[in-house]
Amino acid sequence: MPVETNQGVHPALSNATTNAPVKKRVFSGIQPTGNIHLGNYLGAIRNWVETQSEYDNIFCIVDLHAITLPIDPQELHTSTRKLAALYIACGLDTRYCKLFIQSHVHEHPEMSWIMECFTPMGWLNRMTQFKTKAGENPDSVSTGLFCYPVLMACDILLYQTNYVPVGEDQRQHIEFTRDLAQRFNSLYGQPVFTIPEGLIREVGARIMALDDPTKKMSKSDPNPVSRINLLDDPKTIKQKIARATSDSLRLVAFDPERPGITNLLTIYQLLTGQTQQEIEAEFAGRGYGDFKAALTERLVATLAPIQQRYHELMNDLPTLEAILKQDADELRPMAEATLRHVKEVVGLG
Ligand code: ATP
Ligand code: MG
Repeated sequence: MPVETNQGVHPALSNATTNAPVKKRVFSGIQPTGNIHLGNYLGAIRNWVETQSEYDNIFCIVDLHAITLPIDPQELHTSTRKLAALYIACGLDTRYCKLFIQSHVHEHPEMSWIMECFTPMGWLNRMTQFKTKAGENPDSVSTGLFCYPVLMACDILLYQTNYVPVGEDQRQHIEFTRDLAQRFNSLYGQPVFTIPEGLIREVGARIMALDDPTKKMSKSDPNPVSRINLLDDPKTIKQKIARATSDSLRLVAFDPERPGITNLLTIYQLLTGQTQQEIEAEFAGRGYGDFKAALTERLVATLAPIQQRYHELMNDLPTLEAILKQDADELRPMAEATLRHVKEVVGLG
């Protein structure tokens, strides 16, 4: 069970001077692998922003995960900065959150090696993300892609995290992280790791691809019209929503049997804060054209201020770099403390 006060809290995390209750720790991250989209926003970032003042937050740009599949070096470097700017532009506040680049804290890959040695092959063989991403070529993709869940577990466990807010697709990786932490703790008979819990919302945790509502919206989807990117301009958004798959029924209603229109309605629900009944009443007797126009308008209005702030931040890269460096410097001792403990109990060094 996560702990609420300093008693029993990992020494690196306690507030030794005041002995005040420590806020629960949240950790999450996104890979700088391409265009950040509406699924990343509604399934992850927006939820981080909403609860940020309640928690002690760490949000990572997981660039070490981004190299599990081939990626151009210049693109990786640029995408890393763009993602950091988007985190802040979407509303993450550096008063409540530490933002850092994963490869700036070398304890992540170091602990990952150790934890790989405690991970049964069978556990990794069961991971569905590997199967999806490896596709037809499981023998030629990198072993990094196979071991991805261990590095993700280390990202979380290094900071004695209580909660991990993610989208539905990460549920299996969170379970894996808990199992690995529990296995390690019980093997050495001591609570080396806090056991984290996933926070997965009921609505919005799986935004589907616009062109094919049977698969999730993804950065790595080769079809650009499958997703709305947070940096898309109004004309592009209008075109993508106009082309989005619906059906021939022409009835604007939530219906699990009709995943295309239901996906668009779910996006509208999240952007407006209305209930499903209110939305169905609003569009009763009206066609998909009216609904898609309203959805487009909402999307443009939601993304405009994010894009404006994003461009301001990208025009001042030294400030962004300074935040990332300072936060990595502040987090490193925490990661060091956990890794030191792990090495000590294993007998390394
Ligand atoms: P990639 O295709 O490179 O894996 P991705 O779109 O899946 O990219 P990630 O960086 O893997 O993005 O995931 C970042 C966060 O966004 C995670 O919390 C993940 O659960 C969430 N997320 C990703 N896609 C969706 C989606 N379609 N709906 C809701 N949440 C999502
Ligand atoms: Mg993903």
